[in-house]
Amino acid sequence: MLFRQTLLFLSRRKELEEFLKRNPMARQASSRYVAGDTRREALEVTRRLNEEGFRVTLDYLGEEVADEAQSRAATEEYAGALEEAASLGLNAGVSVKLSHLGVRIDKDLAIENLMAIAARAARVGRFVRVDMEGSDLTETTLEIIRRVHGVHDNVGAVIQSYLRRSSADIEELIREKIPVRLVKGAYLEPEDVAFQDTEEIDLYFMRLLESLLRDGFRPAIATHDEKLIEYAVDMAFIYSRDEQEYEFQMLYGIRRDLQKKLLEDGCRVRIYLPYGEDWYGYFMRRLAERPANLWFLLKNLKR
Ligand SMILES: Cc1cc2nc3c(=O)[nH]c(=O)nc-3n(C[C@H](O)[C@H](O)[C@H](O)COP(=O)(O)OP(=O)(O)OC[C@H]3O[C@@H](n4cnc5c(N)ncnc54)[C@H](O)[C@@H]3O)c2cc1C
Repeated sequence: MLFRQTLLFLSRRKELEEFLKRNPMARQASSRYVAGDTRREALEVTRRLNEEGFRVTLDYLGEEVADEAQSRAATEEYAGALEEAASLGLNAGVSVKLSHLGVRIDKDLAIENLMAIAARAARVGRFVRVDMEGSDLTETTLEIIRRVHGVHDNVGAVIQSYLRRSSADIEELIREKIPVRLVKGAYLEPEDVAFQDTEEIDLYFMRLLESLLRDGFRPAIATHDEKLIEYAVDMAFIYSRDEQEYEFQMLYGIRRDLQKKLLEDGCRVRIYLPYGEDWYGYFMRRLAERPANLWFLLKNLKR
């Protein structure tokens, strides 16, 4: 737990970011989770994953942009990636972060950017998932998704099972027919807003999962936790959900064996595929999930 908190704290430190970004071993370690620096590399990996039977959601890495120009550049990259993926016949949507689209600078700017991405995605028949970030952004993120979903229904949300508020949020989203991806949650959160105990987080995940599989529209279950995946398969059976009506989602580079097994069992599986140069925050959250990855990195950094 202490490791996780320390790593999540460090994920926001600029000095460490500068150091790790310059270090070739750290860069190589991050490549386990990231398709490459460029869109071309990401689309090449997407093609390979599609050929294996996986769907993809592309994440152009970046968060907490400092100015409007950066948010507009991210918007353009997302829309361009969607259009290029569609023109190549690839099965890929995108996952965006509102802090990347400028929400901390100006809420209206983020709305405008998300509207633009959703409109261009709709033109090529693609889906836009809005990732969920730290709890200081939960309310605003849900509000913005509702606004944009009212105009373009190809936009979906993420609910985190470590947040105590999530049961009310998921019921509301289900009622509004907004597609939900359910995750455990990857940020550092205080005790009054989020469960800290992994067992509590898992039990709450199961409760939210049941609502989602009973009534949710295009539910997505995003975890590598085998017991939760088994529980999802059981719930889908109980609520007569066909394998094609819901999907599992997993991160690129994590539990490839499980990803393949689910495909072989006839399930839909979507891979979350990050690309771009801004890999630090994403990489640190992945390290925080599994301290063993950190030892591997430290051993290699010394060389
Ligand atoms: C598709 C997708 C989208 C996501 N979107 C969001 C989001 O929008 N907002 C958000 O807060 N979080 C998001 N997450 C992250 C999520 O909240 C968890 O932090 C992450 O999925 C790890 O939790 P887990 O459910 O896999 O369970 P865990 O209990 O953490 O892991 C289960 C098993 O998976 C393997 N594993 C997990 N993580 C790693 C790793 N980093 N390296 C190696 N093996 C690992 C291990 O075998 C572990 O035992 C997303 C996750 C996925 C899969």
